[in-house]
Amino acid sequence: MSTPPLRLFFAIPCCPQLVRDISDWRARNPIDGKSVAPENLHMTLAFLGSQPRGQVASLEALAASLTPTAFTLQLDRLARWKNGLLYLAPSRTPPALTDLEHSLRETLLSAGFNLETRPFKPHLTLARHCPRLPSAPTPTFDWPATEFTLYASENSARGTRYHAIGQWPLRPPTPA
Ligand code: ATP
Ligand code: MG
Repeated sequence: MSTPPLRLFFAIPCCPQLVRDISDWRARNPIDGKSVAPENLHMTLAFLGSQPRGQVASLEALAASLTPTAFTLQLDRLARWKNGLLYLAPSRTPPALTDLEHSLRETLLSAGFNLETRPFKPHLTLARHCPRLPSAPTPTFDWPATEFTLYASENSARGTRYHAIGQWPLRPPTPA
């Protein structure tokens, strides 16, 4: 019997402190719509969609071939797209994040994976189906990014859960 495909994506997971900070802020500033579960808070780098399980080993090898550098993101924008997605974003994208997304994209495309062609817009989704921007003042969160992860997304009656399949470190920048 053939095994079902996996719904895969690469992302930067939130560190535990950021999850706590965002959860505290959401508790103080209730958001209309469907909040993203704390354990699912992340920033997507590349969405692969449905893939045969047999592709996992080659995706792991591709990820391990990268040499990304760690960075700190300052999430200082709270915004909402017309489709009701409420998100946090950095007003300044660190070059190391641009480099990571770019090298991952190029590596995946060279290996024959299809990726979406829309430009990368770094964001952390807080809620979906959100009818309006919260009136609360925009918070600022610092996000020290130290690793990136290959996730399988699984949907069930209990909601969507992400399973980490592999994780790779972002190396501390070398001092100038
Ligand atoms: P659900 O769709 O069940 O409400 P979800 O959006 O968190 O939950 P997935 O649809 O599996 O779960 O998506 C996983 C991640 O990939 C999310 O960050 C999502 O925004 C992103 N994603 C999903 N579809 C695409 C796509 N077509 N292009 C780019 N990113 C996508
Ligand atoms: Mg989705």
